[in-house]
Amino acid sequence: MTIKPALKSAITILETPSAQLRIGTRWRFYALPNQWSGMRTKHLIELFTGELSIPEIATRAGIKIDAVESLVRELQQLNLVDLQRTPISYLRRYNSELGRIEEVSDSDEVRHDYAIEAFLHRMELECDATTFYAGDHDGGRSAVLGRRNFSILIFGQGKIVNALLGVLSASGFSKVVVINRVSTKDPSLKITERDIAGGFVGRSDIGEPRRKILQQIRNASQLFNEPKAEIQKPNLIISIGHPSPDSIQRWMADNTPHLLVDIATSADVRIGPLVYPGKSPCYRCVQLTENSMLLSTQSPEVGSGLSLSVASAIALDTIALADRARSIYLATSYIHSSHHYHQPEIQHWSQHHACGCAWS
Ligand SMILES: [Zn+2]
Repeated sequence: MTIKPALKSAITILETPSAQLRIGTRWRFYALPNQWSGMRTKHLIELFTGELSIPEIATRAGIKIDAVESLVRELQQLNLVDLQRTPISYLRRYNSELGRIEEVSDSDEVRHDYAIEAFLHRMELECDATTFYAGDHDGGRSAVLGRRNFSILIFGQGKIVNALLGVLSASGFSKVVVINRVSTKDPSLKITERDIAGGFVGRSDIGEPRRKILQQIRNASQLFNEPKAEIQKPNLIISIGHPSPDSIQRWMADNTPHLLVDIATSADVRIGPLVYPGKSPCYRCVQLTENSMLLSTQSPEVGSGLSLSVASAIALDTIALADRARSIYLATSYIHSSHHYHQPEIQHWSQHHACGCAWS
């Protein structure tokens, strides 16, 4: 593919009276020489619009190709430049000229379609939010598109789950399914006043079937307009509240990565560890290490403010995991508390010798 360098969005260039210019964002900027191969660096970078190839830029600027390449490399190291445009396939649209529904393989090519334009505006924002990482060369598009196929099962119910489902759907995760394994008479099959946190669920939803409200949250928020998926082998399980022993056993046996989220009181939630079965400390390792008799099988509902911040923290880490295979919760947990909300308490775990999860 021809490289057509484009300065990433929100990057500004400021020439200073010294021999250097400042390039970057308001809070993250770098210095470059004001002159590049005999021309003003600022003017050269202004040709990085994504429309011109490197030889075309060199011709336009009247300098050697090597000089342009070295500037592109410099900007690449600083994660300030994109090298290509990735097309976004949009599921389907009605083509009024042809009178039928068609697949769209490149949304940028479709003009005057309100739904696609609105989608592209949202897409651009999510892409901009993830583009400034090493290795990202297409304005975050591959990363956000990759979330479409990153499947997630969320176990649990309540404020954190409601908010998490909405935020993940809005961030581009299309395969997210919530599982709430309870008997057919269980009161938690319906929305209760405990679900209200100022987010997606309101007072008028009380008494409605939980399944229906969760579907509404998904439909109202999702970035990619896709039908609900069946998930056979999830990329990630997120367990909110006390997991059943059966569930833990199955996740370990199936070798499925699972993030444990434990609720001690309405004011204290622990996120992590993220368990890679056999490779990192598991649920039982944590139990054995804590050696706690205080473990309750009940999960209280959390306060509204805390529930939304916990859901956001989980969502940001899920994004890091899907986009860049990174997680802060590997063998680590963070206790978020209303008492020290400015600074979560960090715990590190190792595999316990008596657990046996490392033996296989
Ligand atoms: Zn273990």
